[in-house]
Amino acid sequence: MAWSCSGTTNAELISNLIRKKLISSDTVAAAMTAVDRANYVPDKRHAYEDSPQSIGHEATISAPHMHAHAAELLLRYLRDRPDGRGARVLDVGAGSGYLCSVFHHLVVRSGGGGGDGPRGVVVGVEHIPALTALAERNIRADGLGDAIDAEEGIVLVTGDGRFGYAPKGPYDAIHVGAAARTIPPALVEQLASPGRMIIPVGTYAQTFVQVDKDAEGRVTQTDLFGVVYVPLTDRPDVKV
Ligand code: SAH
Repeated sequence: MAWSCSGTTNAELISNLIRKKLISSDTVAAAMTAVDRANYVPDKRHAYEDSPQSIGHEATISAPHMHAHAAELLLRYLRDRPDGRGARVLDVGAGSGYLCSVFHHLVVRSGGGGGDGPRGVVVGVEHIPALTALAERNIRADGLGDAIDAEEGIVLVTGDGRFGYAPKGPYDAIHVGAAARTIPPALVEQLASPGRMIIPVGTYAQTFVQVDKDAEGRVTQTDLFGVVYVPLTDRPDVKV
């Protein structure tokens, strides 16, 4: 099903994802339309295919339908928070930077009008320094240099994402883009009340798990569907 969403342009890819009901909200459609996938893949000829692609260092840019799923599942928590502030988002395993940009459009739009509302912050954590640099280049090439240069906009950090990034938390939404053997406790700790994390869990057979923290801090876990992600690992040169 997913592969049939491929298009020859970014707009065609997004409209195919809408047609197949992989994108259901106008806001996610607008955010994914604003992010040109050609700026995030190494081979632009395959930019609009609904498939994961290698970006080096054993990492892949996920398939667009997975990015769509992630944005749709977190959408409620990407809107302005009840106290009127913009949402704070953590993207673990930022890789190409594609999803950081999609989240950025969603939290900036979250005021309800073209960026006039409160601005949220997106923190991308990536453990391979060359990929953090790649993400930054891609995001700048996609026209979001201002968000990178702002103190809070898109913040890219090199580090072990299993420990989250406490200085910018707590986070209303956390996306983990690589599979964890077990759910890292630091990520649950850094989840706001209320907040939502989606994370692939498992080794060979992986499940996309939704972790919800309610306003009282109660945590519940829901298994969503089977997925295939690269593992969340120790950096090859560093053992933690
Ligand atoms: N959402 C990204 C997915 C990249 S693949 C995209 O679509 O482009 C998964 C990423 O997780 C890789 O870039 C990999 O280097 C990173 N990763 C793996 N283990 C990690 C860890 N412990 N901490 C931070 N990043 C990690």
